[in-house]
Parts: sequence; C-alpha cells; structure tokens
Amino acid sequence: MALSKNMLKPTGFESEETPLTPSEYEKALEKYNPEDSIISRLETAVNSFNSNRKMHQDTRAVFEKLVSFGGFRMKSQFQGGLNKKQMKREGMSKEEIELASAHYCLLEEVTDSYWKEVDDKQKPSWVVDFEALAKAFLSSQFLHHFHWYDPKQLATAMMVLRNFYNYLVVHPVCPEYKEQILAASAICDVAEQELPKLAVVGRSLPGAFNSACSTLFGGAYADVHLSKAAQDSWAQGADNVGLDRDEAIIIFKAGVAAHSTAEHLGLEITAVELPDADVKETYEILRKREGFHEYVHTMGKLTCKRWKIPFEHPVDLPAHLMKAKADINQRFEFLVEAETLAYCVPGMKMVAVVKELDVGIKWIDCVESMHPTFHTWLLNEQIRDWKEPGPATDWMQRAMAKKMGEAEAEIEVATLTAHLTPRTLHPRRTMASLPSKMKGVIIEKTGGTEVLQYKTDLSVPSPGEGQVLVKNDYVGINYIDTYFRSGLYPAPQYPYILGREAEGTVVKAGSGELYGLKEGDKVLMLSEGTYAEYTAANAAKAVKVKEGLEAKVGAAALLQGLTALTLIREAHPVKKGDWVLVHAAAGGTGLWLVQLLKAVGANIVGTASTQEKVDLARKAGAEHMINYSHEDVKSKVMELTKDAGCIAVFDGVGKTTFDLSLDCLARKGSMVSFGNASGAVPPVTIARLSAKNARLMRPTLFNYIATREEFEHYVDELMDFVTKDKLDVRIHETYALSDVARAHNDLEGRKTTGKLLLDPSK
Ligand code: NDP
Repeated sequence: MALSKNMLKPTGFESEETPLTPSEYEKALEKYNPEDSIISRLETAVNSFNSNRKMHQDTRAVFEKLVSFGGFRMKSQFQGGLNKKQMKREGMSKEEIELASAHYCLLEEVTDSYWKEVDDKQKPSWVVDFEALAKAFLSSQFLHHFHWYDPKQLATAMMVLRNFYNYLVVHPVCPEYKEQILAASAICDVAEQELPKLAVVGRSLPGAFNSACSTLFGGAYADVHLSKAAQDSWAQGADNVGLDRDEAIIIFKAGVAAHSTAEHLGLEITAVELPDADVKETYEILRKREGFHEYVHTMGKLTCKRWKIPFEHPVDLPAHLMKAKADINQRFEFLVEAETLAYCVPGMKMVAVVKELDVGIKWIDCVESMHPTFHTWLLNEQIRDWKEPGPATDWMQRAMAKKMGEAEAEIEVATLTAHLTPRTLHPRRTMASLPSKMKGVIIEKTGGTEVLQYKTDLSVPSPGEGQVLVKNDYVGINYIDTYFRSGLYPAPQYPYILGREAEGTVVKAGSGELYGLKEGDKVLMLSEGTYAEYTAANAAKAVKVKEGLEAKVGAAALLQGLTALTLIREAHPVKKGDWVLVHAAAGGTGLWLVQLLKAVGANIVGTASTQEKVDLARKAGAEHMINYSHEDVKSKVMELTKDAGCIAVFDGVGKTTFDLSLDCLARKGSMVSFGNASGAVPPVTIARLSAKNARLMRPTLFNYIATREEFEHYVDELMDFVTKDKLDVRIHETYALSDVARAHNDLEGRKTTGKLLLDPSK
C-alpha cells in the first residue's frame, strides 16, 4: 500500500507529552476542575486525547478497545451534520462544541454506579482502577483482538497506552490517581517484555516431551501421526503432525533419565482402592482397541506412607533430605494392577526404589523386600554378624591426613572406623556434620602484608538469622581487601577475617528469610569474612550458581562484574557510540568494564601501565589503548574525540589519575571515581566542576545492590552476559589461602591482570 501525504503528517504519538507551562496548566485546570466528578473529568480526557491525536486504523483500534474495556461506549453524534467551524459560526461555545463532537461517553451502568455510591453510599459495582484495567486489558482483550505476537503491533499498542497514560499524568485530569496511572504505565513495560516470550511459549507447548507422553499414553497426540507406509503412499506432501511411537519412546526415556530421581525407601500400605465401575468400563473400551488386549490390565490405586526401615544403616544425607525421610506422614499413590491390589493388605510393608519425575509423577521402580503387617525388628539381628573393629589401616590414615591436614585426620579416621561398629551401640559422626575449627586469614592490626595471619584453628561460625553457612570453594580477592589490611578503610573489629566474596556450598541453613537457599546449594555470595574455609553469609546477598557455570567463574565474576555493570548502567548510563575512558583497563574491574562497554557499543579508550596489559585490554575490546606510564593521555583522548573529550571517565586508580580524568572529560560529562588503587583522592573543591558542567560521583557497588531485587536483577544480567555473550572471565592466578601475602603483593605491585582467587582448602 502506498503512503498518502496525510499519513505522513504528525499523529501526536511521536513524542511524550511535555510538561505544561504554568499558563497551560491554569487553562487545563478549567477543563479538569478538581471539583467536577471523576467521571466527567475522565470523559473529557478520553475525548480530548482522541481529538488531539490523528489516529490511524491500528492506533484507533487499540484506543477504542481500551476505552470500551474501561467502561466507555461510542457516542451517537449530535452535531446535526455540522463540523466544528460551522458549529462555531452557529455561536456555540468551545465547551458546547467539544461536548457535541465528543466520541466517547461512559456507559450508564458506570455513571449510575458512581452516583449511587456518592448519593446512597452503596458499594459501587464499578471503581476507578487504572492498574487493574491495564493488567486485565493486556492479559485478555488485547490478546484476543490483536496480533500481539507481531512485534510491530505490540509496539503500536504499547505506544498508544503509554501515550494515553502520559496524557493523564501531564494534564491535571485526576491527580488523585497518579500513582495508579504510573503503575498502569509500568504494566506496559512488563507486557512489552513478557508478551513476546508468551508468544514463543504458546507456539512451543506442549513441546516434544509432553507430546511424547501424549503419544505414548493415549492423549491428544496418540494415533494422529501417519505411519511410514501411509506417508509414502496417499499422504505424500500432507502435514504430518505428532510423533512416531519410536521417536516418542526415545524422547520420553531421555526425559526420565535426566529428570527422574530415585529414592530407596520403606513404604507401608495404608489404603487399597480397587477400580470402580467407570474405570473398569474405560479399561474394557481400551482393551477393544487393536493391539491393546494383551497389555492392558485394569488398575487401581495403592496408597502408602513412609515406613522407617528399622534395619537400615544410618546414612549421611544433607539435613533437608533427612527431614524429608523423617516425614512419616508423606503419602504416595501408585497405579497397580487390580489383580495384585486384591492381595494388598493395609499395614504391609516393603522396601522399594521409588522413582519420581521432578514434575511429581511417581512409580515403584523395583521392590527389594516385602514384609507382613506385623513385621518386627530386634537388635538381635544387628549383633548377629558383628565383629570387633580393627584399627584404622595405613591407607585410611594416609588418605585422611592428605585430605584434611594432620589435626583433623585423627577425628576423621575415628569416623571411618566407626562404621564397623554396630551403630546403635556407637553412634558415629556423619560426614554431614561440621568441624569446629577451620583455616582462615585474619588481621589483628593494620599494615603491610606482614599483618596477614594464616590460621588453622579459627572457630567455624554459626549461621544466624537470615544467614547460611557456606563452605567456600573459591574466594575472590579484591582491591578493597588491601584497604582493610592497610587501614585505609577501618575494620569493624579485630581480629578481622578479610574477604568480600566467594563461591561455595551451603552446609548449614540459619533461621529466618533465606531466599530459598538450602543445604547442598552451590552459591555465589558477597559477604564479609570470606578469607576462610567457612563463612556465615547473609542469604540476601547470595544466589544459587546458574546451571552450566564452570567452577571458579562465579567467584571471579561476581564483585568486579557487578561493579562494572552497575557503573555503566547507573553511575553513567552508557549509550552506543559514547566515548568512554577506562583507567587500569587490564585490571580485574577494568577488563569487566571494557567487555561490558564493548557489548553496549561504546567507543572505549583504555589506559594501562605495560605493553602486555595494553595488548590484553585491546584484545578484550578497548580499541584505543594508551600506555599511561609514558604516553600523554589527555592529548591522545582529545585527538581521538576531536577535542570533545569523553562523556564518562571510569577511574578506579584514584589519587594519581584524578586530575587527568577531569581533563579528559567532555562538557556535561560524568567523572566516576570508584576506587583508590594508587591512594585516596584528596578533597576536591566543587567549583572545579563548573568548567565543564561536569558530574562527579564516588559510587560503591553495595549502594547499587542494597535490596534483594536490585541484587538479583544485576546478578541475572551479569550472568547473562557471562553465559550468553561469552565474556572472558580472566583468572590471573588461584593462590593457596596460606599464600595470601604473595597475592596481595602481586595485586598492589601492579603485577596482575584479571581476577585473583584464593583456594581456602590449601
Ligand atoms: P585491579 O585488578 O584493577 O588492580 C588495580 C590496578 O590499578 C593495577 O593492576 C594497576 O594497573 C592500577 N594501578 C594504577 N596505579 C596503581 C598503584 N599506584 N598501585 C597499584 N595499582 C595501581 O583491582 P580491582 O579490579 O580489584 O580494583 C580496581 C579498582 O576498583 C580499585 O580502586 C578498587 O578499589 C575499585 N573497586 C571499587 C568498587 C566500588 O564499589 N566502588 C568495587 C570494586 C573495585 P596498571 O598498572 O595497569 O595501571
């Protein structure tokens, strides 16, 4: 279709409504007199919005559906065939003309309900609720009437809704509902994000696995797939839906293999439900189908509860599994053939392996032993085959000594030998129990690396309210650790365990809100006191490790990655094409900044002190690198930016680069000073900023991720970058915890690039 001239004219949807000038506002107040009823103000607003927009077919369709869903109807026109000019000539006032040309009015049911409430104080059947209306409209009407899975149509609809809500906010239509209107507008943001996903899900479900189940278990997909022979003959070229049985079997088996869990447990029969007449009849019908007769047995239900197997050896399981095992009231329902059910007696016991698909479907995979209702077990059985345990063998002692260090080996050897004794007589320490002592690094005073004390007898902390105890696998080293050690930042107490981040496994859950974390979970966390084998960490700053993330990557990514991400999102939201200067671009945080800025599409100018670092940062994406140990940074920046300077400078070096950074800044630029690797920046007089109308910021990561939502949001985004954009998480070296002084020396000696980690087990 060709565009007409008319179609190219502005429509009123091009830009957001700008704030009203004081005089416009005064005028608008005449139109939307706060003393008028809300219904008349809304009617006026809907009609004004409509008459001020040049609606095309698609925008009109959305607007009309929205307002009619909100309780409006099209009004019959009483203009007597006159247009607005003619009405003016007829002497009609502006208000009369507007009223006469109004397109929409509220339904009588709405106005009646409103006045009933006002006059008779009756509960209204209609209320003003912009947010609920937006939610309802976008989740029903809109989906039914529009091609919402077409990105263009979705964008058009969101534009109309946002534009309308914006009109309602900018004009004094109903300031008493401002919060609601903003919330309604925010729903558009959610819809814009979510509806394209919904479209994909809608197109994809039920998906291969569910279709396979449906094919195999007599659902909608059973028997719809054409056989090979039929495809080859009469159905050639036709759409062949569904799955072949063999394909379905493979898909189903793969799903079971990957998602089913098996548990070895005791069961006690509690009820037997034989098939009723309806079920029997269904089976009769099924048996009449070709090929079904020999396989289909009539089934009923067998209900069981857990049975504590008295002769079972104690097992080492995480507490949550122990708890589940102990839940004697847990019920299981299985489908069992009626001929077998006829012999089942409530109270009978069995030891069986029960498999469960992680969507809740359970079956008895095999039965190991059956026991009568009166089954009784005596200690006599355990003592029958018991022999006096011998001493721990050499290999046991050597293995434990190697793994745990001499001190703990003794306890563990005792543990190893204990399983030879009858458990009821000598209860043993399980592997799940925790040691009381651990390795860690403390400082008792500030200073150089000599104040770092590696200890092997620190007390393992207990998780308090809102905390989880984490056994650390890898600990991230950050520059801030050197600040606490040197005294630049004061430690909260002495002795003080250094460290700010780690990756590990939850070994004990504290009380209170733990954000779904439980024992056994692999986690990444930001926490104090991580230079140790165990840390009691706040669950609010811990998240489960994303599936597929390699060991070490989380510990290497979290703190510096989040710092870089929040800096470019919040300290200065960087846009594509922005010129940005990053100091120490080959450092831990520097390499993150470079890679994220590259992903955003910025022009990156980086600095580093050696050729090796220059090359590394350039490889990571900093196209323009300057070796600031001998090159003139300012003149190079000005040359690159054609004298404009950089719109943002990210400076973690501090004291030695601060002035240079201000010099390299563009007019209205952001000077983001986020660290002190070379020492703290001395006090600055704010008058210095006026030369460029510059913004000066001194942000810290922790203020950008103070709430759980903020934390999760940025962790998700960061992990997406790591996994999807395949960012290079460069690990400089993983140091033994006992070698922490060397790590600090290397970091402060500018010998490192990328991330430094500690292995707390060494
Ligand atoms: P880096 O791996 O970046 O190491 C610091 C780098 O700074 C060195 O490799 C060195 O690179 C450069 N540097 C320049 N001058 C000196 C100097 N006099 N002494 C030592 N190093 C110098 O460390 P991080 O990534 O851990 O931290 C970088 C900065 O970011 C730090 O200032 C840190 O405090 C800050 N930070 C701030 C956070 C916040 O929330 N605000 C959070 C995380 C980090 P080169 O020699 O190549 O120039």
